Amino acid sequence: MIIACLDLEGVLVPEIWINVAERTGIDALRRTTRDEPDYDVLMRQRLEILDAHGLRIGEIQEVIAGLDPLDGAREFLDGLRERCQVVILSDTFYQFAEPLMRKLAWPTLFCHDLEIDAGGRITDYRLRMPDQKRHCVERFRELRFDTIAAGDSYNDTSMLAAADAGILFCPPSNVIAEFPQYPVTRSHPELRAAFDAAAARMEAA
Ligand SMILES: [Mg+2]
Repeated sequence: MIIACLDLEGVLVPEIWINVAERTGIDALRRTTRDEPDYDVLMRQRLEILDAHGLRIGEIQEVIAGLDPLDGAREFLDGLRERCQVVILSDTFYQFAEPLMRKLAWPTLFCHDLEIDAGGRITDYRLRMPDQKRHCVERFRELRFDTIAAGDSYNDTSMLAAADAGILFCPPSNVIAEFPQYPVTRSHPELRAAFDAAAARMEAA
């Protein structure tokens, strides 16, 4: 049995923080791990910015509810779920992902948690564990599943390396250059074809 491990943002849905920045007009929220490589520093800054603008979880969820999955993502996911087990491994937070999960028919999602007080203020965040994506793939393999992982960015590369097969989806050019061992796909039909090819190789082995 194969488990497909999919990244969320950039593969099935748009980048959540960037869209929140655009839709709220708060430019400072556009910073990503490319601008601030220390994730904890970045998240503390984001929470301070939300506080400074008085943005509570309800308002942020409303913004996110206005986003749609990427074109073709729902069809891709539905088709893949007929072929194998699918688990989405993401560094987002359950409280952010919820409106988008509804639009994707509630696939299995492993991600992180926000701490929210009674008034809806985001007070802190809690990572499941560092490098969660890689750990999940390693545990699936220990459970004797074959694993195929797909993602678009640096935070996916340890998961791709841990999986039996890794696939890049619409990655930036620096990721392609640094990780030439992974096939690059640029549309959901191409990604599905790469999954099917990897699955066929595993089933023949
Ligand atoms: Mg991504």
